[in-house]
Formats: sequence, structure tokens, C-alpha cells
Amino acid sequence: MTLVAPGSTIGILGGGQLGRMLALAAAAMGYRVHVLAPEAELPAGDVAAEVTRADYLDEAALAAFAAAVDVVTFEFENVPTAAVQALAARVPVYPGAFSLEIAQDRMTEKRFVEQLGGRPAPWRPVDSLADLEAALAALGTPAILKTRRMGYDGKGQARIATPADAAAAWASIGERPAVLEAFVHFSHEFSVLIARGRSGEIVQWPVPCNVHDGGILATSSVPAPAAVLAQAAEALALATRIAEALDHVGVLACEFFAAADGPRFNEMAPRVHNSGHWTIEGARVSQFENHIRAVCGLPLGTTDLTAPAVTMKNLLGDDVHDWPALLADPRAHLHLYGKSEVKPGRKMGHVTWL
Ligand code: AMP
Repeated sequence: MTLVAPGSTIGILGGGQLGRMLALAAAAMGYRVHVLAPEAELPAGDVAAEVTRADYLDEAALAAFAAAVDVVTFEFENVPTAAVQALAARVPVYPGAFSLEIAQDRMTEKRFVEQLGGRPAPWRPVDSLADLEAALAALGTPAILKTRRMGYDGKGQARIATPADAAAAWASIGERPAVLEAFVHFSHEFSVLIARGRSGEIVQWPVPCNVHDGGILATSSVPAPAAVLAQAAEALALATRIAEALDHVGVLACEFFAAADGPRFNEMAPRVHNSGHWTIEGARVSQFENHIRAVCGLPLGTTDLTAPAVTMKNLLGDDVHDWPALLADPRAHLHLYGKSEVKPGRKMGHVTWL
């Protein structure tokens, strides 16, 4: 596959903050970015050369988009695989449809990872209330019910404290195909961020320790504590096997729980990830730049830290109003995503301290 040289146009499916930071990294290297997404407000659109506001399955829009770009990537893993396949017939798309297909369904993803020797929390597929009751009897409580598709940031999930909660939990996720997971007692959460180039070259960033609040990422910090570092090699080896088995090109993020019996795989994202935002200032080459390099067929850049310690904090909902106080600290790097509507838990921006 030919190299996509600076000056070319990169198409990005999805228009959120991840697309915005990808577009900024691409522009720094001399690329033009064309965003395609359906939403009226597009944080990525504000910093892109071209925007197509269209549904992901709008065939005419996809054909025009394919004709206007030299390579396509995505910032959102719930883009319909049919859209990616339609584009891939016309223009190179990285990562490929297989990475999307596996990551879009929690059940498919867990089976795929188990085949590669990974260990998710004990789990069962759930397609009915009877399945859920049987799964609760097998796995015990507490447990977490998660929809197979379209869940993120704790959405589409229900925590189950006792078997008596089964019917309410099943109703609360809309009676959709789901998985039940045993609750993992972990000391920490962490993620593995790697980038794989078209040649198969892989780079990995130092592993961040992540703190979630209400299912949403609150902070990521490097270096991670010793309890996480002790599990990092096994988790990195698994993420590498996943990337190779997917023939993945671009950034791949895998989230883990550090449990007493070693790393338990939680989920993967076939894209740049919130727990890697610290790499913008905290690593020599960020996840965004290396993702662009990978999809364009360029060599990947070094992932070494630029400071002994780095912390990233998400600005969720009303936290965004704290920006003046945050900037009073001269070491704070402020990132705001240009979203006009503040909603509780909405990712409005982040701050990084080196
Ligand atoms: P997820 O959307 O699957 O990443 O879940 C969001 C957050 O909920 C995770 O980062 C954990 O903090 C928590 N969580 C999810 N699944 C489990 C589990 N099986 N055991 C314990 N905590 C979990």
C-alpha cells in the first residue's frame, strides 16, 4: 500500500474530541483532514479543512467522501461496519473492518481475547431474563450486566447487588442482548496503549493507572504504581497478540483490572483512547501523532516520557467552568473541546500536568 504523504487528505469518521485531537496532530504534519459525522455540533469539524455532515450509511455521502480523501480512519468504534466496508472498496481504511467488528460487541471481543490467552472477568451471555437469572446463579453477586453493543462510559450497564435485582437490571438496559460479568475486586485499573504500523512495527507507551468515577474515566497517571507495573508485561503481551491477530493498524487501547490473580482484561478500543490524552505533552510522540503516522504508512515515533510524572484529569460537565483556576497553575496544559452544551458526565476537556 502506498504511503500517504503530507499534503494528502485524511478522512476521519466521527467528529468528537478524539477526532479533534487527531486532526490537530495531522495538521501539524501537513495533512488536510476531512471529517464525516452526523451530529450538528462537531468538535473535530472546528479544526478540520472539510466537514461532511451525513449519516454513516448515506451511500452518496460515503462515495463523495471516498473520492475526496486519500486514506480513512475513525475516532468512534460504533461506526457501522457496513460504512467501513463500503469505503474500503474505494480507499484504504485503517484500522480495518475486522478491528471494528470485534470491538463493537462485548461478547465477540471477550471470546476473541480468550482465544488469545487473555482473561476477562468470568462472564455469561444473556439474551433473556431467564438467562440472566441462570448467569447470576453461576457467577454470584455482585455482578455487572452490560449491553453487548453501543455501551460506553458506563452507559448500557447495570450493577446487580442481589439476585432479586435481576428483573430491574434487565429492564434498565432495555432488554437488549448483553453479557453478565462477575465483579472484579481490583487494586487498580490500568490501560495498555500501543500503536501498530502498516509494516507490523509496534510501539507502546508507559502504562497509565486510571481512576474511574461512576463508570467514567476521571484521571490517568504515569508512572503507574508498582502493583500495576508488576502486571504490565503480561497485559502488553496480550495487547500485542490482539493487535497482530486483528492485523490492526493504528492505536489500540486495552483496559485491565489489576486483580490479585493478575491482569483481568476489561475491554478494548480500536482507536485513540481517553487514557492516552496525557501523551500529547507527556510523551515524545503522542497517541494522536502515532495514529496518524500508522494509518499513513509513516515510521512510528518514540513513546518515551517527557517528564518523570504525568497526570491527566478529565473535565466532566460543570468542571469545565474551573478553567480559570486551573490555568492559574503555570504547569497546567488546558484542552477544551469546544462543546457548547454542558451535561453531567459529558467530556468537555482535560488538563495535563507534567
Ligand atoms: P466499562 O464501560 O466496561 O469500561 O466499565 C466502566 C467502569 O466500571 C470500569 O472502568 C470499572 O471501574 C467498572 N467496572 C466495569 N466492569 C467491572 C467488573 N466486571 N468488575 C468491577 N468493576 C467493573
